[in-house]
Amino acid sequence: MDFSLTREQAMLKKLAKQFAENELEPVAAEVDEAHVFPVDNFAKMAAVGFTGIGVPKEYGGCGGGALEKVLAVTEFAKKCMTSAACLSIHLIAPHAIADYGTEEQKQKYLPRLTKGGELGAFALTEPNAGSDAAGVKTTAVYDAETNEYILNGTKCFITGGSRAGILVIFALTDPKMKTKGMSAFIVEKGMPGFTVGKIENKMGLSGSETAELIFEDCRVPAENLLGKEGKGFKIAMQALDGARIGVGAQSIGVAEGAIELSVKYANERVQFGKPISSLQGIQWYIADMATKTEASKALVSYAAYLQDSGKPFTKEAAMCKLNGSENARFVTNLALQIHGGYGYMKDYPLERMYRDAKITEIYEGTSEIHKVVISRAVINGK
Ligand SMILES: Cc1cc2nc3c(=O)[nH]c(=O)nc-3n(C[C@H](O)[C@H](O)[C@H](O)COP(=O)(O)OP(=O)(O)OC[C@H]3O[C@@H](n4cnc5c(N)ncnc54)[C@H](O)[C@@H]3O)c2cc1C
Repeated sequence: MDFSLTREQAMLKKLAKQFAENELEPVAAEVDEAHVFPVDNFAKMAAVGFTGIGVPKEYGGCGGGALEKVLAVTEFAKKCMTSAACLSIHLIAPHAIADYGTEEQKQKYLPRLTKGGELGAFALTEPNAGSDAAGVKTTAVYDAETNEYILNGTKCFITGGSRAGILVIFALTDPKMKTKGMSAFIVEKGMPGFTVGKIENKMGLSGSETAELIFEDCRVPAENLLGKEGKGFKIAMQALDGARIGVGAQSIGVAEGAIELSVKYANERVQFGKPISSLQGIQWYIADMATKTEASKALVSYAAYLQDSGKPFTKEAAMCKLNGSENARFVTNLALQIHGGYGYMKDYPLERMYRDAKITEIYEGTSEIHKVVISRAVINGK
């Protein structure tokens, strides 16, 4: 078993680390406090090529796959979870278009989503369809006269929904057929009948602009159907498998960032006449944090390896997301504890990381839903 990175992967990791230190870390607190999407960060990511990770070069991407995404997102999340999440969730749309799009759709949309710097969004959740994604009520009715679909419904909690130029939306083309009647569409900002509603005020990941999207007789050209009619649920579930590896990467990054800060603080903070890093209680915290994070990293890398090898990876993606997100909460909690009262203050990044880490247990499927996915696979011998 070879755990080493290729030369290109090592270079990407180094580039992402430098980018995170130079561009993301200096503005991370500001992005958190302003509750505004980090437009400049995203534009810089596009200029360097991060927004095209996993997209073939002929469509403006920079190639690579799940492991390259993990390397970049992890480095970003060490310094700014909001920016890491924005990249990770943005990539769902170009990856879905690359996997299911027609040649015309790939040529039209992928260069814009990669080097073009337009943000992508993935809109499945609705007010009454969260964990139960099959409960989607948004409809898409085909109008043969104009060769368009007419979309009606409301999506909620959509990351970057207020800023995205190109969105992958799920709607029912045949409501009687439930999940088999769900289809995916590529919707562009500015299409008539599509408006952005409420932008949520959140506990963490503040700059990610989680938005409500409203479709009122929104006319989408038939050529924007992504994949075949009735295949939307399958497309959504496969996109989420890949996205969960991205959340695993966010979880590792925020945990590694918190460990780095904890070690530095524990070496500097003196109590009872010596650095607190010399206290066994603190050392054991750090040992647990480091060990569990290393284990999370192995699971995320394994899921990425399976995806990149074209092997089934639904169970492992769910495992790496479940385990990684629980670890992110565990590690950021102990890191804040190691910082004592200072950790609770906004002068230190720990309280932000603690708030940001929590989302990893909720979005792209909750921990409970991941246990459903994992147990089903294990019980059925998959
Ligand atoms: C910040 C943020 C960003 C998001 N970004 C996006 C996005 O970009 N695109 C998008 O489509 N969605 C997005 N979401 C939505 C997210 O995926 C859902 O919030 C999530 O799937 C949970 O759905 P829900 O909030 O409706 O909770 P519910 O489904 O109502 O769940 C409530 C509780 O019940 C539990 N539960 C539900 N069903 C079961 C079950 N079968 N067994 C055991 N327990 C169960 C859940 O685990 C949870 O604890 C985002 C959410 C947030 C908070």
